[in-house]
Amino acid sequence: MKYVVSHYLLGFPYPRFLTWVHVMSERLFGTNGFRGVVGKELTPEIAVKFGYAVGTHYLGKSVAVGWDGRLSSEMLSKALIAGLLSVASQVYEVGLTPIPALQKYVMENSEVEYGVMATASHNPPEYNGFKVIGPEGIEAHDSVEKRIEEIFLSGRYVLSTWREVKEVRHSEVLQHYLDSLLRQVDVDLLRRREKKVVVDPGHGVSALTIPHLLGRVGYKAMTINGDVDGRFPMRSPEPTPENLEVLSKSVSAVEADFGVAFDGDGDRVIFCDEEGKFWWGDASGIAISKYLSQRGICQAVVTPVTSSAAVEMVLRPLGIKVMRTQVGSRHVSYLMREIGSTWGFEENGGGIYAPHLLARDGGITTLLMAQLLAEEKKELSEVFGELPRLWQAKTKVKTRLEMRDKVVEALIEEHSDKRVETIDGAKIWFSDNEWVLVRPSGTEPLVRVFAESGNRDQATRLAREFKRRVVALTEDLA
Ligand code: MG
Repeated sequence: MKYVVSHYLLGFPYPRFLTWVHVMSERLFGTNGFRGVVGKELTPEIAVKFGYAVGTHYLGKSVAVGWDGRLSSEMLSKALIAGLLSVASQVYEVGLTPIPALQKYVMENSEVEYGVMATASHNPPEYNGFKVIGPEGIEAHDSVEKRIEEIFLSGRYVLSTWREVKEVRHSEVLQHYLDSLLRQVDVDLLRRREKKVVVDPGHGVSALTIPHLLGRVGYKAMTINGDVDGRFPMRSPEPTPENLEVLSKSVSAVEADFGVAFDGDGDRVIFCDEEGKFWWGDASGIAISKYLSQRGICQAVVTPVTSSAAVEMVLRPLGIKVMRTQVGSRHVSYLMREIGSTWGFEENGGGIYAPHLLARDGGITTLLMAQLLAEEKKELSEVFGELPRLWQAKTKVKTRLEMRDKVVEALIEEHSDKRVETIDGAKIWFSDNEWVLVRPSGTEPLVRVFAESGNRDQATRLAREFKRRVVALTEDLA
C-alpha cells in the first residue's frame, strides 16, 4: 500500500494500474511471481511497462523470454519483449516452453544472463503473469522483485534511443533440455525395465517434452489431454485429485505401471500408482529422498512448512536431515544452495534436484521416480504403501489484508503452551503427527488453514475448528 500512496502524491500517471495495485495487494509480486486476470489486471500495456522495469533493473544484460500455452501468453510476451527492447536489452526469444527448460537454458547459456517466463502455472485460464529467473536459473530473489516493483511503480525507466534498439534472436531450448535430463539417469537400466505410463500434461506445455522423454527411455507413453490448449478444455491446469479422475481411470483401464500429471507450465508432477490412486507430492518427495540417500547422494532434504510430518517420521531415522522453509519453491532452492542439499520438494508435486537444476522440474522428478522403480523392482503402490498414513485437510478464510498478520499473532499467543513454529504463519503442533498451520496468503486477502493428523476425521475437524477461530478473531480484532 505504501507504493500506492507515495506515487499517488507524486502524480503517478497510470490510474488504471493504481486501482489494480490498490485492490490486489501491497505487492506486485506474490509467492510465485506476478499474476493477474488478463484484460483486467494484466494487459499488454502493463506487460510493456513491466519489460521497461525488468530491463532497467538488469540494464545492459541479455534476457531469454519464454511462455506457456495460455491464449494470452504470446500476446503478453511480445508486449514484454517490446518493453525490454525499448531499454536496449538483447532479447533471446525462446517461445513456447516448459518453465524448467527455460531455467536450464538461462543457467547454462553464457550469452543469456537472466530470463522472464509468461505463465500463470496452475491458475485458471483467465490468469497470466510473469516470473523473473535469475542467472542461476532460480526465480529471482525477493530483493530483486522489490527493486523491479520500485522501478515499475515510479516509472523511472532507462529508455534507449533508436540507435540502441537490438534485433531479437531466436533460441530453441527443448532438445538441449531433454538431453540434459537424460544425462542425470541410467538410460540403459530404464530401457531394460520397459514400463507403460499414462501422461496427462493437462493441455499444458509438458506435452512438448514428457512423452518424448519417456519414449527416449524406452517407455510406452500414452498421452491424454496432450494438445497444448490455453483454454484447458478437459481439465484445469492444477493437478489435484478432482482434476485427475480421467488419469486415474486411464491408468487402470490400460493396465499402466503408473500415471503422471503436470501443472500448466511443467514444473510440478503428481503420480498415480498402477491402481490409479492419486498420491500427493509428499509421498513422491519422501520416496525419492530415501532412494537418493541410499545411493549416497542426499544427506539433507529441504521442504516447506506445508509438507507432511511423515517427512521427518520417515527420513530422520534414516539419518537424513530435514530443513523446513516458508512456502514458495524459490525458498527451497535458496536453502538447498546454502546448505549444499541435492534434493528438495513441495507437497504440491514440485521436486528440485540440484545436480540438474536448482529449481522445480516435473521432468527430472518423473525420471528419478522411474529410476527408483527400475532399481528397486517395485510397483509404485508398494513404494508409497510403505509410508505412514497421514491425512491433510485444507481450507481458507477471507480476511482484509491488514487483518491477516494480526490473526496469526493472536493464534501464536493463544497456543503459547504448545510447540509453535513461525517459519511461515503459525504451525501449532498437537503431537508428532498432528498439527495446524495458519498462514496469510502471499497475494490475496485471505488466510489459509492446513491441518494434518493420523486420523482423517480429526484432520477435517481441526481445519474446521481453526477456520471458525480465524473468522472469530477477524471480527474480534477488527
Ligand atoms: Mg508451475
